[in-house]
Parts: sequence; C-alpha cells; structure tokens
Amino acid sequence: MKKYTLPAMMLLIFETVAVTLWLAKDNLFYLFNFSYIGISISLGLFLFIRKYPYARRIVQLLVGSYMLIYLGLICNENMQIEGFWYYLFTGVFEAATIHYAVAKIFGPLLFGRGWCGFACWTAMVLDFLPYKTPKGDRKNIGWIRYITFAASLVFVAALFFSHVGNIEKIMFWAFIIGNLLYYGIGIALAYVFKDNRAFCKYICPITIFLKPMSYFSLARIKCDKSKCISCGKCERICPMNVKITDNSRKRENGTECILCMECKRACPKDAL
Ligand code: SF4
Ligand code: SF4
Ligand code: SF4
Repeated sequence: MKKYTLPAMMLLIFETVAVTLWLAKDNLFYLFNFSYIGISISLGLFLFIRKYPYARRIVQLLVGSYMLIYLGLICNENMQIEGFWYYLFTGVFEAATIHYAVAKIFGPLLFGRGWCGFACWTAMVLDFLPYKTPKGDRKNIGWIRYITFAASLVFVAALFFSHVGNIEKIMFWAFIIGNLLYYGIGIALAYVFKDNRAFCKYICPITIFLKPMSYFSLARIKCDKSKCISCGKCERICPMNVKITDNSRKRENGTECILCMECKRACPKDAL
C-alpha cells in the first residue's frame, strides 16, 4: 500500500483546497471543481503506479478538457493568462486567480511543472502530434516567452484602464481567439522544429511563473547513481531535454521538467 502514498497525498491536498475554498467563499463550486481535479490526478497517478501506459494522457484529457470546455466555453471563465491579469486588476480572488495560484504559482513549489505534464489543455492537444521526442537540438529562442508574457499584460491593462464597455465579453472572445492562436502556433512549431513541446519551450508565457517556482519543487526526478549504467536512454526520450542524471537543482533545463515520467519508464535499471 505504501506505493499509493503519492496519489493519496495528492487527493488529500486537493480536497483540503476544495473544502477550504468551499467554506471560505461559501460556494459549492469550489468543492466540485477541486475534488474533480484532485480525483482525476490521483486516478492518473494510481494508474501510472499500476504501469498503465496511458495514465498521464487520461489525466490530461480529463482535466484539460474540463477546464477548456466546461470552465472556459460553458462557464465563460477566461482561464488563460489574460484572465489571470483581468482578475488581478479587478482585485477579485476567484476563477483564474485561484487556478493560477494553485497550479502555476505556489503549487509548483510542491509538484513542479506537473500542470504541464498532466493538465494543460494546450499540451493535451500537442501531445497527440508525432514528435514526442524532439528530433533536433534545443533552439536559443526562449526569450520569445517574455514578449508573449508582456503582451498579455499590456493587452489586459489597456482594456482595463481605457474603461472599455463589455470587458467580460471581450475576455471571453480573447479566450477563444487566444486558444486558437496557441493551438495554431503550437502545431505549426511542432512540425517546423519536429518537437511536440516547442510551444512550451519557446512561446508559452506561463513558463515565466512556472520555471522559477519549479526550481524549488519538492517533487523531482532524481537519479540513483549506484544503479545508473549511463546508457543515456532517459535523456534521449525526455521531451524537455532535461539533463536527468545530474541531480543538482541547477541541472541543464531542470526547470523544464514536466514530470511526465517518460524517463522513468525508459530506464532499464529502475534508477530514476
Ligand atoms: S508550458 Fe505552457 S503550453 Fe506548455 S504545458 Fe505548460 S502551461 Fe501548457
Ligand atoms: S522525461 Fe523525465 S526529466 Fe524529462 S520531462 Fe519527463 S519526467 Fe522530466
Ligand atoms: S536510463 Fe537509467 S540507467 Fe540509463 S542513463 Fe538514465 S538513469 Fe542511467
């Protein structure tokens, strides 16, 4: 039973958030929302431990489609970074601000970039493309993410301070158009660079939050040097080009790890 500690812990963390927010904000939605996400993630971890090959993909589809279709399209919540800025400007701590706080700002201190591996609705689609393992070297264009980050902030600030009418409707359409752009650019880049995760590496503005916080993550892939035979399989299969066998927090591309566990599955010596 000890091996199921992690899924049990994840469920406990999410249920704590669910109940706390439900009681604090007197809104049953939070109980449903965080329970659903917690159960989906715990189910995925449980299936992974049972060695089910599609465990991670199931969680991605369960959580990603829930957030995109139910929260975004049906409930009209802009869950992209623009929604986060919007709620920050209005001073309201709900929807996108809570989501960002839990999944992308403070959560990564515990579970790193687990969001990117298990829940993101952009990557949910990109991971279906054929280049699961990058075919070429990493490009030196990661600076683009700072431009997209700044552009998202300037866009929402301009809307907010110019007091345009119907801002909620604009935010809804920004969510639709933003997602279409993300998917379009993400798919195009994947084919150009022969790398499903090119969008994550070079364009995604959310990595500005995710990378520094995940540097301190409690959950990390570590290498047991006494078992490792330096075969290099783990690093060849890693979608994010992480120097996995280096255990230091400063390892190359360390803050890019999305905890997908492909390296662990590939290791012939169970050293990860
Ligand atoms: S880097 Fe961005 S697009 Fe990629 S999985 Fe993470 S949040 Fe999603
Ligand atoms: S393969 Fe391993 S090191 Fe690479 S992203 Fe996945 S979990 Fe992280
Ligand atoms: S796959 Fe396993 S044995 Fe091979 S280099 Fe990686 S950690 Fe070492």
